[in-house]
Amino acid sequence: MKLIDVSVPLDANLPTYPGNTPYSLEAVKRIARGDSSNVSTLHLSAHSGTHVDAPCHFFDGAPGAEALPLEMLVGRARVIEITSRKGVGADELAGAHLSEDVRVLIKTSNSRLWGSAEFHADYTGVTESGAKYLLEHGIKVVGVDYLSVEEFRKSGAPAHHVLLGAGIIVIEGLNLRDVDPGVYEMFCLPLALVGCDGAPARVVLRRS
Ligand SMILES: [Zn+2]
Repeated sequence: MKLIDVSVPLDANLPTYPGNTPYSLEAVKRIARGDSSNVSTLHLSAHSGTHVDAPCHFFDGAPGAEALPLEMLVGRARVIEITSRKGVGADELAGAHLSEDVRVLIKTSNSRLWGSAEFHADYTGVTESGAKYLLEHGIKVVGVDYLSVEEFRKSGAPAHHVLLGAGIIVIEGLNLRDVDPGVYEMFCLPLALVGCDGAPARVVLRRS
């Protein structure tokens, strides 16, 4: 069984969304220092690397990461490729011919930004028209290939509000660089962080 890992490694090369806690490992115990074992403490944002947004990310009192329905995060997913760098809008999505798709992963030039520890503010995000298009076409899970579904510092965060407000699950931080467009089986399992606004996840695809 061949799995394609579309999650990004958590290491020093991981870019950090401005204002979020940079990822690091703190050595609490080290065998090399005379301890009996190696034990680390993690420092990270709930939105580090590949992660799923919980509804309470943008809606106070809404469910946290532990309530994300895993049934929705496992199953048939379509990878589409959008080459426009001006944002993923309704026009761009119309060309992808989504039909009968519940889960869509949007591959853009963003996937080529991974490996650079610098945060690239000019990444491609989903516009308000794109978010509404996904909602109107019955999409329940949308995945994007950089640290936010939103265009950088977009006033009012319309994509998050449209998607999370409609109960659509947003997966961010996928690396789709080596994935061809097409239909896959997706396995996305976010950590059950109770009450948390997001949760890191390992995401793999299997050709279906
Ligand atoms: Zn997020």
